[in-house]
Amino acid sequence: MRLTDINTVKEIMREFDLNFKKKFGQNFLINASVPARIADECTNGDFDCGILEIGPGIGTLTYELAKRYKKVVAVEIDTTLLPALEHTLAEFDNVTVISADIMKTDVKELCKREFSDIGMHFSVCANLPYYITTPVIMHLLESGAGFDYVTVMIQKEVVARLCSMPGTADYGAITASVSYYGEVKKLFSVPAGCFMPAPKVDSAVMRIRLHEEPPVKTLDTGVFFRVIRGAFAQRRKTLPNSLSSEFGELDRACLTGIVEESGFSATVRGEALGIEDFARIADMIVKAKFGETATYKP
Ligand code: SAM
Repeated sequence: MRLTDINTVKEIMREFDLNFKKKFGQNFLINASVPARIADECTNGDFDCGILEIGPGIGTLTYELAKRYKKVVAVEIDTTLLPALEHTLAEFDNVTVISADIMKTDVKELCKREFSDIGMHFSVCANLPYYITTPVIMHLLESGAGFDYVTVMIQKEVVARLCSMPGTADYGAITASVSYYGEVKKLFSVPAGCFMPAPKVDSAVMRIRLHEEPPVKTLDTGVFFRVIRGAFAQRRKTLPNSLSSEFGELDRACLTGIVEESGFSATVRGEALGIEDFARIADMIVKAKFGETATYKP
């Protein structure tokens, strides 16, 4: 079945009485080479594994994944798509469609049940809805499910942001947070015309290779992420000022001292710092709050 053919898509939509739901970010792929290429590249050449897909739509990417991988588990929020998926994926016995909202799903438990119990390692591959890209990416990374790769197609500008370096305009809290979990690589761009309906923005595919061990050790990861959030909350303010809104429990002089002791001037802004710097500052904050005896919390 050629699910990227416009007439086929229209026919399926008519047959199953479907409409494109904006509230679920439904822009389906209608370019044949894009889903094939995403499926080819999402695990960097390792096809002996399972794939968790978010938002199969009418099954366009799912179809290409099912042809290549041992098992595909696809989580779809829109229940009206389920009969269409049953039809478009009928030839595969390695696909399981789960009717759920990924944001309300215990991803670790799902992957354990669907993949690890049968001894399979696994990755994520998805054409994500635009309205919820960064929350979904963080939900997947924070789940601790044990993915090898998280490959997603999202808005081009968000990919640029996630691939940016400290000191650049694109670099932000999300860049630093994601780099704690993995290494981001842009794979390729996808113009808006490859979707139906065409969105207002262009897209790009990026692959995150998850770190086996976090690249930095921190005494308390909760404080580490608060430092990142605080550092970027008010981008135009100096780092000590910006941090003082997040850490109201510490006075400004203490935060200025910490920033200077970590090797930066008190006028530095958060966007100049990498995750090693945020980890160093977070540990100094933990010690300022709880004393020198604070211990490492993974
Ligand atoms: N994979 C298809 C493709 O590439 O043509 C459809 C991609 S479309 C951009 C996004 C899909 O995600 C839609 O099927 C939508 O219903 C689904 N979706 C939106 N929010 C979701 C959520 N919170 N949980 C699971 N699926 C969701």
